[in-house]
Amino acid sequence: MKIKDRIALQFTLIVASILIVFSALVYSTSANYRRDEYFERLRDKARTTCRFLIEVKEIDMNLLKIIDRNTITAMIDEKVLIFDQNNKMIYSSLDDKPVSYNVELLERVREEKEIRVRDGENELLGLLYEEGEFPIVVLASAYDEFGLSKLNNLRNTIGWALLAGIALTVGLSVYFAGNSLKPIADINMEVSSITAQNLETRLHEGNRKDEIAQLAINFNQMLQRLSLAFEQQRSFVSHASHELRTPIAALKSEVQLGEQYAAGKPELQEIFQNLSLDTERLIQITNNLLLLARSFESLNKITTAVIRIEDLLFEAKEELESRSHDYHILIDYESFPQDESSTLVDGNKELIKVLFSNLMDNACKYSEDKAVRVLVSTDRSFCTIRVIDKGIGIDTQDIPLIFNPFYRAENAAGYLGFGIGLSICQRIVEAHRGTLTVESQKGTGSTFIVKMPNKSVQT
Ligand code: ADP
Repeated sequence: MKIKDRIALQFTLIVASILIVFSALVYSTSANYRRDEYFERLRDKARTTCRFLIEVKEIDMNLLKIIDRNTITAMIDEKVLIFDQNNKMIYSSLDDKPVSYNVELLERVREEKEIRVRDGENELLGLLYEEGEFPIVVLASAYDEFGLSKLNNLRNTIGWALLAGIALTVGLSVYFAGNSLKPIADINMEVSSITAQNLETRLHEGNRKDEIAQLAINFNQMLQRLSLAFEQQRSFVSHASHELRTPIAALKSEVQLGEQYAAGKPELQEIFQNLSLDTERLIQITNNLLLLARSFESLNKITTAVIRIEDLLFEAKEELESRSHDYHILIDYESFPQDESSTLVDGNKELIKVLFSNLMDNACKYSEDKAVRVLVSTDRSFCTIRVIDKGIGIDTQDIPLIFNPFYRAENAAGYLGFGIGLSICQRIVEAHRGTLTVESQKGTGSTFIVKMPNKSVQT
């Protein structure tokens, strides 16, 4: 779960729990208050009836019933029952409605002096009245319609307010969590776009005051150190291989000179031939190292021009075929481009030619028929080049590794190579904001797919 969602959820849970606890507290306090108040009224009613019955001698039962029914404070569904010490009912305020009571209830009243129970929907108060000649038990029961309806109202109001409060909390917490973590999301986006080719990019440092700004500042300082170290390493490789070229070129011409002197001396001739081969390998390695160092440069550091992909493919094909006469390179359109500009890319001519040359060279080198088919296709954003061979193929577990510098898979045993061609290719493609992928099956062949953003996308 994202931190943003976790904060929003935690905040919602905390606020919702507080709201629920407070609502429950308000409701239960109100419910208790209503109950106490109502039983107070029932007690008053019970005591008044007893007083009338016992103390006002002139009053008879019927008059008392009439008074009972017509007092202003009469309660809904009100019943008052009075029992003597033998549990004999000596007064009932009701004529028609049956009254349910039992001896245990009366005994309980005598024991506890006052009890409060529910009687169906009604509230029932049992009271022991001891102010007369003998103790009598009064049962007063009524329905608190007004109080209960107020309580019901309160419950509805609290329920809706609670729902609205929780909904509001969810909305606000999502908004505020998103808002407060936005700078981190922004940093995340910026960081994910930083690669070896654009180490000079710097993160936005915001107000330079809060913790997130401090993080961006520290990250920028780290990028600065990294880019310096990277630049030093790149320039070392570049200078070293450049410096090596002159003595190696001199070595090569001296070996060639030596070969002339060795004419007629077979042992010396063999030594010079080996020397010549090794020198050639040295030249290739230093050239590749130089290219590797150059391929780390970002697109805005290398000189670029608008290039037609097919032209470079044909140039690479010619160079390769003139160097290795047994290579068969076929270049074709997979789908004919609808627009002439869709095969135009903005890039470095020399590097892109190295890219195609390496891929075609590998395809021919690792196939028995020394043949490769190159298919060009385009869409609105990309120009796609598929380099297809029917060669030895690559093991599935080797596929992610072959782009590492100096990695040679087992299938390459017995073939000449240094293991840096593909890593150079990948860096060249990345420097041009493209992608290089491979689909391959051992024993069947490989397809290397280059996708380069076409000119219309780059501008
Ligand atoms: P190398 O000089 O060894 O060809 P690369 O960097 O060009 O170095 O390739 C790395 C490895 O990828 C090779 O050693 C080989 O194992 C594998 N490879 C590259 N291209 C192909 C291909 N077309 N068919 C089969 N294997 C390939």
